[in-house]
Formats: sequence, structure tokens, C-alpha cells
Amino acid sequence: MKITAVDPFYLRIPNITTAADGTQDTLLVRVRTDTGLEGWGECDASPLVSMAVYCCPMSHGNIINIRTSLIGETLDSPNAVLRLSEKVLRNGLDIQQIQHAYSGAEIALWDVIGQKLDKPVYHLLAEMSGTSDVAHPKLPYASVLFGDTPEATYHIASGLREQGYRAAKFGWGPMGKFGEANDIALVRAAREGMGPDAQIMIDAGVVWGTDYETAYNRAEAFAEFSPTWLEEPLAPDAIDAYGALTEKNPSVPIAAGEGSSTYRMAEDLIVNGGIQFVQIDAGRIGGILPSFQVRQLAEQHGIQYVNHTFKSHLSLASSLHVFATNPDFDLLEYPAAGSELSQRLVKNPFQVDPDGMVRVKALPGLGVQVDTEAIRPYLAPVRIEVGADTVFEQTLL
Ligand SMILES: [Mg+2]
Repeated sequence: MKITAVDPFYLRIPNITTAADGTQDTLLVRVRTDTGLEGWGECDASPLVSMAVYCCPMSHGNIINIRTSLIGETLDSPNAVLRLSEKVLRNGLDIQQIQHAYSGAEIALWDVIGQKLDKPVYHLLAEMSGTSDVAHPKLPYASVLFGDTPEATYHIASGLREQGYRAAKFGWGPMGKFGEANDIALVRAAREGMGPDAQIMIDAGVVWGTDYETAYNRAEAFAEFSPTWLEEPLAPDAIDAYGALTEKNPSVPIAAGEGSSTYRMAEDLIVNGGIQFVQIDAGRIGGILPSFQVRQLAEQHGIQYVNHTFKSHLSLASSLHVFATNPDFDLLEYPAAGSELSQRLVKNPFQVDPDGMVRVKALPGLGVQVDTEAIRPYLAPVRIEVGADTVFEQTLL
């Protein structure tokens, strides 16, 4: 099977705002082959910045774009994905965002090879790693922002509970900005709204930078409300500060990792930052294989792997295949809302089953179908010209 086309697509809703909502636009990548099989992937990235990595003119032997590296290549096995990833990353050695941008194509390659071999991606990963291919259900947690006040947060939390969520994450907004008493009141409101039996998670949204003392003090103050974790209390690359924080053994476990755009960044947080939950976005770190490698590292270190997903259910599918077969990694960040674009992107989104759990789809490839008809209105056609040359012209969906 030969790769015949690698097409990035920029999709967006009409009015983009500064709201902390990553579903307002997206970069999809479609890989086509000479067998007629095609696969899809989604990046959590600035679409046009990443699109450039697919089509930028060659500068020299270390700046060769992703399409040039992939088109014409043979794709017959999971090992071919590994080989192609090595080629893409080698050819793009001096392209700073290569892993991040390549995530979409890598995920699409897995989708194709799974369809060709008639196996779900989690089966292929199990075969490659010699591990169990039995998938386990995940408890979806709703991921929301704190309200502007504790009262508003209480209403958000109680609303989620009425919708049936048994777990929810509250983040960003006022957390860390108006002093300790307000921070504690926000967490108390989240707990009281969700009730004593639910799991709550707190996402501090990198608010304390490198100030690990304040992060530690907040973790201790939040402990009486039993959050499952305190997420990103510090800046994504504040590895020394994470190490100092976790060295103090705070009463609430520390989570981080969504900003990892390479395996090495996640490894640094685990090995030197001492985090207890590692949160990986397959659409940022380079795709499914590096995510799976972080999962394996988490298993070796006895910490928990969790997905980071704030895009469509195409992204959710790619995330879920990575850790579906580990029963201990039982929490799933579940995009419950988001733009119409993200909600209409696949024809067969994941449903929460009657038992409150979400299950990976045991279908070939990723198991979700992109709804090209539904998303066509959101396509922003791109043409890049340099002098008299057209460097890139978007194909139609
Ligand atoms: Mg977060």
C-alpha cells in the first residue's frame, strides 16, 4: 500500500473569541493510499502554523516538509508507522514544531493501517508491545472552567451532577488570582455542588508559575475537599519547581503534562518533576506512538496516565486507543461540549454507556468516521503563494 496524498484541512467557526475553548478551530489531516483506504487525524495546535510544517519549501536536508517525507512511501504494518515517523522527524530536524504538527498525520497513519489489517488501533499497540489486548471502560470526567465566583462554581457543579457526571474537573478562571480564601471557597463550592461521592479535579491553569511553596500550601488547603488531583499548579516547563513541590509530598496528588509536545518533555515531568498523573494529548506530542511510550513510562513509574483532550471525538478516539487496555488508568477527559464544528466532526461520537462509562470502539483503525458533509461549511480554504509559485493549495473535502 502506497501513500498517495497527505492533506491538511483548516476548519473554523465564523467568530473566534479569546474564550479558553480549543474547539473553535482545528487542523485535520487526511492520509490517502492507492488502495482507496484513507485515515484521519486531528492536531491540537494553531492550524496554520502547523499546516506550514506540511508544505513549507525545503530549506536544506533538515527542513523537509511532512508531505514530501510521506507521499510515495509504503505503509503495510505498524512498524512502517514507526519507520515513517523516524523519517519525518529526521527530515524535519530543524523545524521547531515538527512533532506537534506531525501528530495529525501520525494518527491518520494508524487509522489507515488499522483498517488495512482489520484491527482496532489498541489491538495493534498491544501486539507491538506484547501486552494485553483487552480494553477496559473509562470513567468520563466533565472538564469545565470555574465560575467567576464560588456561587457560580457551585451552580456549574450541581448542574453537572444533575446531568449524571460522577467526576468533573474545574479549572482556570479566578483560581489563584484573588488570594487563598477565594481559592479555597472555589474548591469547596465545586465539592459541595458535585456532592461527597463524586470525584473532583482542580486545574490551577499554571497560575503559580515557579512558586512551588504557594502551590504546596494550596494543595494542603484543598486536601479537606479530597480532589483527585491538583493539575498544572506550575508552568509547563518548571521542572525544578515541580520537583521541589512533589519532594514536599503534598496531600493532593499533582498532575501535569498536557503541554508536552515531545516524549522527552513528558519524561522530564515524570522523572524529574515527580508528578503522579501524566496528562498527554496525542494531538500535540507527535501522535499515538509517543503517547503510548509515555503510557509505558507511567506504568514503569507507578503513576497514572490520563488523556488530555479538548477537541472533537476524533481526538478522543486517538487518545483512548493509547490507554484502553490498562484497567488502572480508568479516568477519561471527555469533551462533553465544545463548538458545533467539534460536535459534528464525527458521525459516530462516543456515548456515555448506561453504567456511566465510556468504551473504546472495537472497530478497525480509530473506529470513528469523519463527517465530511457536516464539516464542509467550516472549511477555510488555504492557498499559499511565494512569488509566482503556489506552495500549497488546499484540496476539497
Ligand atoms: Mg489542564
